[in-house]
Amino acid sequence: MQRDLPIAVVGAGLGGLVTALALAREGFTRIDVYERSPVLAEVGAGLTISPNSSRALIGIGLGPGLAARADEPPAAMTRHWQSGRVLTRSVRGQALRDQYGAPYCLIHRADLLDLLVEGCAAQPAVRIHTGHALRSVSQDATGVTLAFEDGREARAALAIGCDGVKSAVRRSAFAADAPQFSGYVAWRALLPVEAPEHRLDPPAQLFIGIGHMFMRYHVRHGALTNVVAVARAQDTHWTEEGWTIPSTVAELASHYVGWHEDILAAIRRVPESQCFKWAIHVREPLPSWRAGRLVLVGDAAHPMTPFMGMGAAMAIEDGVVLARSLALRPTLDDALDTYESLRKPRADFVQVESAKRGLRLMGSDPDSYGQSKEVSEDSLGLFAYDAMGVVAAA
Ligand SMILES: Cc1cc2nc3c(=O)[nH]c(=O)nc-3n(C[C@H](O)[C@H](O)[C@H](O)COP(=O)(O)OP(=O)(O)OC[C@H]3O[C@@H](n4cnc5c(N)ncnc54)[C@H](O)[C@@H]3O)c2cc1C
Repeated sequence: MQRDLPIAVVGAGLGGLVTALALAREGFTRIDVYERSPVLAEVGAGLTISPNSSRALIGIGLGPGLAARADEPPAAMTRHWQSGRVLTRSVRGQALRDQYGAPYCLIHRADLLDLLVEGCAAQPAVRIHTGHALRSVSQDATGVTLAFEDGREARAALAIGCDGVKSAVRRSAFAADAPQFSGYVAWRALLPVEAPEHRLDPPAQLFIGIGHMFMRYHVRHGALTNVVAVARAQDTHWTEEGWTIPSTVAELASHYVGWHEDILAAIRRVPESQCFKWAIHVREPLPSWRAGRLVLVGDAAHPMTPFMGMGAAMAIEDGVVLARSLALRPTLDDALDTYESLRKPRADFVQVESAKRGLRLMGSDPDSYGQSKEVSEDSLGLFAYDAMGVVAAA
């Protein structure tokens, strides 16, 4: 396809920046990224980068940056909420590298965002426009018009909606459905590792109990512990959304009464000013992610529960496969067909499996968890996906 096609990317989150960088590396020369926030920033939290995700990031040139900034845990384990008994142990580190040819890493979200921003800044084809909140999109025979909240407009030949779970592109051109509360509330915090007893061994540990889980893993080479605590909520009508709804340590602790001392000690270390919660929202799968000159990527297309740690991975894979499709197929229609046919079945599958994993992890019988073979992102074969290679192979 012609490389001077003007392309608009809506949203400069992980999915949007990966898409922009992948497009530039494929030789596209006119990529405008529109982000509603006045500055590019990520929340203070960690992120799992599984081998399928790291393989895609390495493919767009971020291998050295990832190696410098991410941690590679040698193992991970699941433990019983009360006794702390080890229920499952998963090998990571070199064993996964040998198996998949790409690392399993843990990274601070802000560090991955920085890598992507630096990568885009090195590409003259990519222009990032902050302070541009999209209101709606419309299209005609020659292109797409993007209308922003402040009255400004922009044109492009193709618009890619990477604007997250509350996507304006999706609302405006695909479906008027609203995100649904999944029934899970999550708390997150980053704890400084200041004493030997703060160090986790292995450095990634998940405690599970009925209706609750508590995940901890190190990022920034062991300087910080990322905490994600999830509880099934009573209030099924939660409408408040966002990653930064203030909570209190007392509220968090009230969900973990009677838990293992490791978890209680971690909760005591959460700074009151840094205790945030958010309601996890999901949406029904769309019949299609493309409509004419519009297409969706990441959470805008397929928001999912976080129980496989694959939401960002899917956004990253989407961005790379979309860029490869646009580069390798002769027309826009062919490219968007290829993208959707390669990506939708996989993302729909992961969306469903992630929800099922949540039910298993926080099911009614944590005592027997792990006694039969665990169904996980690894056992489902998700790590082997090669986003850089699938278009040429299709
Ligand atoms: C508790 C939890 C833990 C998770 N852990 C992991 C993990 O370990 N590994 C993993 O792979 N995934 C994980 N995920 C999922 C992952 O965070 C998301 O799937 C991922 O961030 C989606 O990226 P995105 O770019 O599609 O959307 P987002 O990251 O939401 O980015 C959307 C961007 O669009 C911008 N935007 C929104 N509306 C507009 C508008 N109208 N106009 C312009 N810009 C707009 C936003 O400001 C934002 O910058 C987790 C999710 C949760 C809830």
